[in-house]
Amino acid sequence: MVEALERIGFTGPIYPINPKYQTVAGRNCYATLRELPQPPDVVSFCIRNDGVVENLRAAAERGARAAVIYDSGFGEIGGSGATLQAEIVGICREAGISLCGPNCMGALNPQARSTTFKQEVRNPQALVGNVALISQSGSVAASLLADLRRFGFSLVVSSGNEAVNDTASYIDFAVDDPNTTVIATFTETVRDPERYVAALDRAADKGKPVVVLKVGRSERVRAAITGHTGGLAGESRVFSEVLKAHHAIEVEDLDELTEVLAVCQGKRWPKGSGINVVTTSGGQAELILDVATGAGIALHPLPAAAREAVERDVGRVTGDGNPLDAWGRGDFRTTLPQALHLLSENASTDAVVFCSSDSFDNQALGRPGREEDYARLLAEAAGKSTKPHYFMTMRPGVMHSSQLRILAEAGVAVIGGTRQGLGAIERLARWSAPLPPMRTSSLAPSPELAVARRTINEHDAKRILAQCGMPVTRERLVTSPEAAISAAATIGYPVVLKVVSDDIPHKSEHNLVAVGLADERSLLAAFDAMARRVADLARDPEKWEPVFGKDHAQTNKHRPIAGYLVQEMVGDGVEVFAGVARDCDFGLSIAFGIGGVAVEVLRDFALRPVPLREGDAEAMIAETRGAALLGAFRGRPAADVAALAHCLYTLSDFAAANSDRIEEIDLNPIKAKPNGCIIVDALIVPRKPQGRPHD
Ligand code: ADP
Ligand code: MG
Repeated sequence: MVEALERIGFTGPIYPINPKYQTVAGRNCYATLRELPQPPDVVSFCIRNDGVVENLRAAAERGARAAVIYDSGFGEIGGSGATLQAEIVGICREAGISLCGPNCMGALNPQARSTTFKQEVRNPQALVGNVALISQSGSVAASLLADLRRFGFSLVVSSGNEAVNDTASYIDFAVDDPNTTVIATFTETVRDPERYVAALDRAADKGKPVVVLKVGRSERVRAAITGHTGGLAGESRVFSEVLKAHHAIEVEDLDELTEVLAVCQGKRWPKGSGINVVTTSGGQAELILDVATGAGIALHPLPAAAREAVERDVGRVTGDGNPLDAWGRGDFRTTLPQALHLLSENASTDAVVFCSSDSFDNQALGRPGREEDYARLLAEAAGKSTKPHYFMTMRPGVMHSSQLRILAEAGVAVIGGTRQGLGAIERLARWSAPLPPMRTSSLAPSPELAVARRTINEHDAKRILAQCGMPVTRERLVTSPEAAISAAATIGYPVVLKVVSDDIPHKSEHNLVAVGLADERSLLAAFDAMARRVADLARDPEKWEPVFGKDHAQTNKHRPIAGYLVQEMVGDGVEVFAGVARDCDFGLSIAFGIGGVAVEVLRDFALRPVPLREGDAEAMIAETRGAALLGAFRGRPAADVAALAHCLYTLSDFAAANSDRIEEIDLNPIKAKPNGCIIVDALIVPRKPQGRPHD
């Protein structure tokens, strides 16, 4: 540690502490922290976990302001480790010590020439850059630090267990750090979701992208899910949507992370996602197009006017001109600058990317100087343009050092690999676009949600939703066959008959829904059958309990159900699904899917945090794979997507107005009709005041 500090150029006092030695690295060594001649700024605990508490106390007494604990065996192992960690937290909080770790590799600030990072420093100057890296994993941080060819770091933190300082606090620091332009995080757990989201918002306000690689994306099974939406909205989908809604850039692996950081090194950043690629060969152009298309990255065909200009100045255009094979007449020194200029002038181009064949230092073949020539041609073109230019290699990681040098001097970013490189441009372009405003709800909280109920049944849920203007079926709650017939006469045949009970959130699972009842006779028959089924259930606890639950069997035996619902039959329309679910970390999300009951099987749904932003509802509908079913289809007219979007916005407003009182909402199905939409089934699961659903 002493040597690392010396190598990085640290100029302040360094005090080794160890009772066994007189001197360490040529410095006077102190037996205990208490003997230090002055209070230390930071104490690095290069000792085993069982000695930490005692020494941390000593550090606190000596007035230490910060500490790093490297060893493991704390919170991450639970039990006695967690107790030890709690003790450490207590000491730090009381003494106001800013703690990194435990179970970490420490922090490195190349700009400030200071380090507590548990690695030797070999080349301090190469470390310096504008990326703040905050990693809960030490080895991931070390991996990223190994390749300094395209960017360096303003700050590196291996944050480990984050017992005191967490990712959010480091992001906050990096947002205010003048040397940082982009923040990268490797995150396993978000410790304090509220502060985390606030830190993301601050970064967005300051114009610093936060690039997030989150691991543990496989779904965790959560307890206390009554409705369907809760089962769908798993942790990782919610987290991804929260990142999007708070303007962070999510990446899936280290390659993608690295390329976004590389794109951020460009002098100019992309303002839109119009990417145009120039290549040196037709085969390469085809490969890039295939890979980009497969990765969902749009390379739009070159507009006719630009194609004509290319045909005139550069040579024949193969394909649709994007990627553009600029080999032209074979005189690349003339044709490349012309092609780059024409793309820079093209109105729909936001980013110009040049990709030649890959090259490497000391390669065995090829004319020496060829790589540098290409780099210079691109650097010159970029200098004359107002648009960002990129040099792309075919494969990530394969780069030529003199090209890197020439391009870095010109402020041209080098990116590697079509999927990762072009994907990174697209991600940064999307980040550059401002987010639309969040909806503000003018709805008052519904008093009916304050009542302690396990679930709010279909009939009551629809009444509550109708009060905020949501479209629901015409229906009437009855308790006798006579009343059912009179209700059906008012509503008009065909009708639907359902059992209504707070204890039966999923009616058709128990044969308690009858649809398409065309006349009095079939209504009576259905009523009779349903009443017998309920009576049958009520007689036999073995049948009863699976349907109504144990508590209900004991308390409500004499009035097992609230009644029967006679409801208009909505014959036409596409069955869709909307719902609200609560994530234990990030609160409410809203889901939309196509396919009604099939939604859990198909898992084709879109998700957004509550409240929605303007444009979210339309985007959610459009991004479901089954959205085409809402268009005109086999002679059926198109569904009223605007009405559906309105319904989602109202659901979001309702959820936002009642956010403390909602655990889940299922509107399944909603029928999307050519003219409007209608909620056919609804279920609300209220939240207990202490934050748990009613059991
Ligand atoms: P569950 O509690 O089992 O979800 P639903 O009320 O959703 O019960 O009814 C089950 C299915 O019956 C629905 O998915 C829908 O296909 C159909 N259905 C229910 N009510 C109506 C209605 N009013 N009009 C048309 N179809 C209906
Ligand atoms: Mg249903």
